[in-house]
Amino acid sequence: MLFPPSDWLPEAPLNLVNLDWLKSAGIEVAILRLDQIDPLISGNKWFKLIEHLKAADLAGAKGIISLGGAHSNHLHALAAAGKRFGFKTVGLLRGHPQDTPTVNDLQTFGMQLHWLGYGGYRARHEAGFWEPWRAQYPDLLPVPEGGGGLPGAKGCMPLKTMVSEQLKGLGWSGFDGWWLACGTGTTLAGLVLAEAGQRPVYGALAVPDDHGVAQQVESIVREAGLQNTAYELISASRGGFAKVDPLLLAFIEQTEQAGGIPLEPLYTGKALLALKHQVEGGRFAKGARLIFVHTGGLQGLRGFLSPLVPL
Ligand SMILES: *Cc1c(COP(=O)(O)O)cnc(C)c1O
Repeated sequence: MLFPPSDWLPEAPLNLVNLDWLKSAGIEVAILRLDQIDPLISGNKWFKLIEHLKAADLAGAKGIISLGGAHSNHLHALAAAGKRFGFKTVGLLRGHPQDTPTVNDLQTFGMQLHWLGYGGYRARHEAGFWEPWRAQYPDLLPVPEGGGGLPGAKGCMPLKTMVSEQLKGLGWSGFDGWWLACGTGTTLAGLVLAEAGQRPVYGALAVPDDHGVAQQVESIVREAGLQNTAYELISASRGGFAKVDPLLLAFIEQTEQAGGIPLEPLYTGKALLALKHQVEGGRFAKGARLIFVHTGGLQGLRGFLSPLVPL
């Protein structure tokens, strides 16, 4: 049994955000803290894994083999889940052996690592890429980079229920939309599927605008056979993925100090800053209520951003 026992349901707290720029605009935001679901397993990557774990169970596999970089939040969530639930994990890494906080965690969690170099990693989409790995690890299920695609999106659909169940506690009877960071758009696609056009989902792009996020979301939506969708992608990468600038870092520090919200600069910091710019630009009417999804990612930053992001 790979899939966690049915009594293990991650519960992310939903809290009201208390920040001046929201107050002065008359906008209310509640933050869904996926970074707090478990001491080991953090963020949206866990939800993206759920359906893959179910598939592995159905296939009678003993574990999962997947790919990522030396800072991969996906591999981190996978290795942590393997450790927590006792299944085997193998990670195929981009580039040459290096020590990062993430790589150290992967090893501590018992993930077996293979470094593919850069050329070897680029070959991951080629036919036949998995064959030698299947031969070496016949009892493991291969999962694509990042845990994306329709299975990844489906795993994120329960986030809607998780929020609905906690609205009362905030004194909210409803809300007007979702706001979250997008890398591949898989998590956003899961919310788009769950909403089926009822509420808009705003995706702040952590990657350049031409990275094919819209195509990826469309292909998931089409594969799911969904007719009604409401979503919008917003530029938020500030010069490219992993590009960091002083204004962003200052914003992250202020948000931590004034609102008690830890953010990282690759995804969640850029997403909340993009929301601030939209709010200040008058994008949302006074009284609007939004859910900001904190997608996690803090574990990859230890030693990199501290003391900005205490962990
Ligand atoms: C991977 C990641 C995202 C992007 O998720 P997608 O489903 O690929 O859009 C956002 N935030 C954090 C912290 C992530 O690790």
